[in-house]
Amino acid sequence: MNKPPMLTAQQALDHLLSHAKAVPESEKVTMQAALGRVLAEDVNSLVDVPPLDNTSMDGYAVRSADTQTLGSILKVAQRIPAGSMGKQLEPGTVARIFTGAPVPPGADAVVMQEDCAIPEGAVDHVQVNTIPMAGQWIRRRGEDLSAGKVALSAGTFLRPQELGVAASAGLTHVSVKRKVKVAAFFTGDELSLPGEQLKPGGIYNSNRDTLLACLKSLGCDATDFGIVPDSLRATRETLRAASKDHDLIITSGGVSVGEEDHIKPAVSAEGRLDLWQIAIKPGKPLAFGAVRKSDETKTGEAWFIGLPGNPVSSFVTFLLFVRPFILKLQGRDSGHAQSYPMRADFDWLKADRRNEFLRVKINPQGGLDIFPNQSSGVLTSASWGDGLIDCPPGATFKAGDMVKYIPFNALLS
Ligand code: AMP
Ligand code: MG
Repeated sequence: MNKPPMLTAQQALDHLLSHAKAVPESEKVTMQAALGRVLAEDVNSLVDVPPLDNTSMDGYAVRSADTQTLGSILKVAQRIPAGSMGKQLEPGTVARIFTGAPVPPGADAVVMQEDCAIPEGAVDHVQVNTIPMAGQWIRRRGEDLSAGKVALSAGTFLRPQELGVAASAGLTHVSVKRKVKVAAFFTGDELSLPGEQLKPGGIYNSNRDTLLACLKSLGCDATDFGIVPDSLRATRETLRAASKDHDLIITSGGVSVGEEDHIKPAVSAEGRLDLWQIAIKPGKPLAFGAVRKSDETKTGEAWFIGLPGNPVSSFVTFLLFVRPFILKLQGRDSGHAQSYPMRADFDWLKADRRNEFLRVKINPQGGLDIFPNQSSGVLTSASWGDGLIDCPPGATFKAGDMVKYIPFNALLS
């Protein structure tokens, strides 16, 4: 039998991403419903933010020309709390002013109240014990957002801070991409759900909870098509059902080429499939293709990505390949997994031909420790860890060397 070619992780990712296109549909939602969604169009600010030049300190608005001598005593001619407007500041006077209040016309600096003193017996005078620079403690009109200009651009993933930006721009609703719909099923005669009786030699289906949670954390609409036995017929039937109304089908297990691995023939019969051997560890086999939509009213295809069955392999390959693919369907920048140079606090001396993704954790000394058992079946390695070291093929390193660290956090939204 011909061995499928070994791809590098980058080649596999490039290939996947060359196919993915953002879903075309969008919908208007309230800002409260927009968390975790992706902007379908640019959002322009309705207002200047801040709306006027205003003070960032409690203190006195001054004309800097009047305060060039240390200890100048000036008349307090007006009082401007936040939310009210002052009037023209006459030469030789200052305005008592509070954080957020507009700087009155004529003033060009604010002196914080800590730098001022009230002269003995004075009711309406203040002594300025500093020489202010023009512009100090003034937040300029529009320095944050400008009316009519783009506040957030299409493709932005909306986090809490983006919702705040949209609110300060005056928006009640935004147009977001519709959610990407993903169907998932899990192959294996040995699998049972927690709560069910385990079969002899059986194991619990852990991929279901890991992968559905990954989909949820990416903001997908996920449908669970359950455990599918190792049979060609059952696999084909589930593929047909899952293709309806979904953009993408993901599966775990059955992607090798053994007699009990039915993903390849099933997807080939229901659509088309490439089976890849990727030079990564954990991972290796990954299936990519498409399933014809069997729904009579619909034409087209649902994308298909088949992940390996081993729990760490399916988790890591989801993060490295499925996530960027989904990001692109969502209209987000799928970019590269964010990585940081970090110090390894252990030796890694057994070079592997494959690109390894080691489960590691940041220690209190700011270095990385490794989980001792890196088997692709040991899911506690991923739970113990807070990220991965991306170790290139053939590479070794020693304690103290810098390595490429990818935090899980960056991959779960
Ligand atoms: P497979 O890719 O189907 O050959 O499975 C590889 C290994 O992963 C086997 O030991 C399976 O029992 C295990 N496995 C497959 N699917 C799951 C799952 N959903 N949850 C936990 N382990 C699984
Ligand atoms: Mg299997």
